[in-house]
Amino acid sequence: MPRIQRLSPSLINKIAAGEVIERPASVVKELMENSVDSGARRIDVAIQQGGLELIRVTDDGCGIAPEDLELAVAPHATSKLASEDDLFHVGTLGFRGEALASIAEVSRFRLRSRPTGATAGHELEVVGGQKSPLVPCGAPEGTSLEVRNLFYNVPVRRKFLRSAQTEMGHISEAFIRIALAAPNCHFTLRHNERTVYELPPSPDWRERIATLFGEDLAAALVAVESHDEDIHLSGYVAHPSQNRANQKMQYLLLNGRAIRDRALHHALGEAYRGLLLSGRHPIAFLALDMPAEMVDVNVHPTKLEVRFLDSGRLYSQLLGTLRTRFLTLDLSNRVDLAGSPPDAAASLDQARAEAVREDFVRWAKGELDAATARVERTAPQVTATLPGLSYPAPHAPAERRPLDLVSLDRPWRPVGPAAAEDPPIAALDEAVADDDSTSNADQPFSPPGVRSANFAPHGPVSALQVHQRYIVTESDEGVVVIDQHALHERILYERLRERVLAGDLETQTLLVPEPVDLSPQEAALVLEQREMLARLGVRVEPFGGSTVLVTSCPAMLGQVQPGEVLRGLLERLQAGGAGPDRRDLLDELLHMMSCKAAIKAGDRLTPEEIASLLADRHLVHDSHHCPHGRPTALVFTREELDRQFLRT
Ligand code: ADP
Ligand code: MG
Repeated sequence: MPRIQRLSPSLINKIAAGEVIERPASVVKELMENSVDSGARRIDVAIQQGGLELIRVTDDGCGIAPEDLELAVAPHATSKLASEDDLFHVGTLGFRGEALASIAEVSRFRLRSRPTGATAGHELEVVGGQKSPLVPCGAPEGTSLEVRNLFYNVPVRRKFLRSAQTEMGHISEAFIRIALAAPNCHFTLRHNERTVYELPPSPDWRERIATLFGEDLAAALVAVESHDEDIHLSGYVAHPSQNRANQKMQYLLLNGRAIRDRALHHALGEAYRGLLLSGRHPIAFLALDMPAEMVDVNVHPTKLEVRFLDSGRLYSQLLGTLRTRFLTLDLSNRVDLAGSPPDAAASLDQARAEAVREDFVRWAKGELDAATARVERTAPQVTATLPGLSYPAPHAPAERRPLDLVSLDRPWRPVGPAAAEDPPIAALDEAVADDDSTSNADQPFSPPGVRSANFAPHGPVSALQVHQRYIVTESDEGVVVIDQHALHERILYERLRERVLAGDLETQTLLVPEPVDLSPQEAALVLEQREMLARLGVRVEPFGGSTVLVTSCPAMLGQVQPGEVLRGLLERLQAGGAGPDRRDLLDELLHMMSCKAAIKAGDRLTPEEIASLLADRHLVHDSHHCPHGRPTALVFTREELDRQFLRT
C-alpha cells in the first residue's frame, strides 16, 4: 500500500479548479460576480475565440489594494466573510475565496487593479499558479482581469471543450444570468471585437429583459408580485403564447443570484398546466427576496443550487401567485367571430388571433389599399392589388429560402409557361381552380375532386397573402384566414407521418456528412436513439469524442441544415426521452421536423406556392390545427360579417 501524503498546494488548487472552473463560461461567471460584488457601475466583458484564447473582464468597482493583490489569488482568501457567522448571512455573490486561485492555476492570468482614490494601479501576473512580482502600472480606477489560454496546462479539460461557438453560447448564458440580476449596472459583451450585448443601466427590469430577449417577448410579459411575510416574489411571466421547448428561459433570482431549483421550475410548469401544450415550457423572470438566513447558498461549488429552509412554502407561494394572476387575465380566445366555441388550443393564442381579427376587419372595411401603401413604404412586398387579390412581387427577397412545397414528394411543375419567372395575375386563379381547368396528365396535385372540396366549388378561388403571414380566401361559409406556417407544418407532418409509419420515407444521403459537435451526454443519447432517428430518415454515426456525423436526412426537409435537424430532435429527445411511450416520442419528433421545414411567417409566397398550399389542405385530417395545437385557419362566417357591417 503506498504511503499517504499531503497533496501539494498546486494539486489542491487544480482539484478545486476542476470543481469551480468547468469551461470558459465558468470563468466569465466568477469574474463578473466579483465585479458585481465590487460595486461596479459598469462591467465590460471581452472574449476571443469562445474564451479559449482570451477572457477579459473590466470593472469600475472598488478595486483591490496592492498589498491584497497576492492574497486575492491565494486559495481560501476572501474579503467577503469576516466571521464564521457571516457564512449564514451571505450578502455577496462570492464568499468561498476560491475562484481567482482556481483560475490562476489553470491559465495565464493577469490582474490589474487601482482602488478608488489611489493614484496608480498595480499588476500581478500568474502563469499556471506561478506568481510574478507585483509591478506598478497605469490603470483606471477599478479592476481588470485577463485570462488567456485557459486549461493550457490541463490537457484533459481542454479536450472536453467544444467549438468556440458552443463555448460562446455558454458564456452568453452566464453573462445574461448576471446581467439580469444587476439591472442598474451597465454591461457589455464583445466576442472577437464584435458587440454581442450592450446593456445600459435599466432600473425597469422589463427594459433589460427587452434588450436581452427582444421587444416581442417583453411585450408578452405579465407582471407578478406577492409578499408572504418575509418572502417577496416579483417579476414577470410570459403570456402562454410565448413558450419554449425547455426550461432555459425560466430565470430565477434569489437575493440577486441566478439559481436553478427543481421545485420552483416545477411550480411554474404547474401554474401553466392547461395553458401550454405538452412538451412546452413557460418563460419567466422571477426575483425572490428573503432574509439570508432562510436559505443556505453553500451547497454547490458554483452556487447554482441553494437549499431553502422551507421550500414547500415557496412552492405554494409561487404557484398561488401565478394562478391568482392568471385568473385576473383573460387568457381565453377572443376570436368569437368564428361562430364555433373557442377550443382550448385556440385560446392559447389569443393575442395572435386578435391580431388576425383586426387585420381582417381592417381589410374588409376597405382599408386594404391604405394598409398596402403602408406596407410598401416599409418593404416593397405587394406589387399589385386587385379587388380581393394581391400577389407578391416576383423577385422574392434573397434571404428567403425558396419554398420547397413542391419537392415534398412530386416534381414541381409551375402553372402556365411564364409562371416560373413572372406569374401573370391570373395564374393563381388557375392554379387553385379545378383540375380540369389546368388539365395536364402529369399534374398529380392530388386525387381529383378532393382538392377543392373545402373551397368554393363554383369557379376559381382567389387568395391573398397578407403581412407575409396569412392567406385569406373564401369558403362556402365565409372568409377563411389561414396561417401559412401552421398549415404548411401540418401538411408536412401528415406526409412525414404517413411515410414513416409505412416505412418508406425517402432519405437523402449527404454528399458531405455533417459533423455535429455535442456534449458527451447528448452524443450518448443520440447514439442510443439511432434506430428511431433512422426511422425518421436521420442517420448518425459516431465520429470520435462526442462528435457525431449526420449522414442522411429526409428528402422532404429540403433546405433545412442536417445539423439543425439533429439538434432539434435532440432537444425533443432530452425533453421527452424519459417517457415510456415511444410512439409519443416519435410523434414529437415528427412535429419538430415539420415545424423546422415549414415555411415561416415572413416568407413571401408566389401564387403557385399559395395555390399548392391550398390545394394540399385536404391532406390535413384536422386542418384546423397545426401540430403544436395552434389553429391553422380561422373562419369568419358571412352571417357574422353581415352583423358586423350592420347589415342585419
Ligand atoms: P470570493 O469572490 O469568493 O471572495 P475570489 O477568488 O473570487 O473569491 O476573489 C478573491 C477576492 O479578491 C475577493 O474576496 C475580493 O476581495 C477580491 N476581488 C476579486 N475580484 C475583484 C474585483 N473585480 N474588484 C474588487 N475586488 C476583487
Ligand atoms: Mg468571487
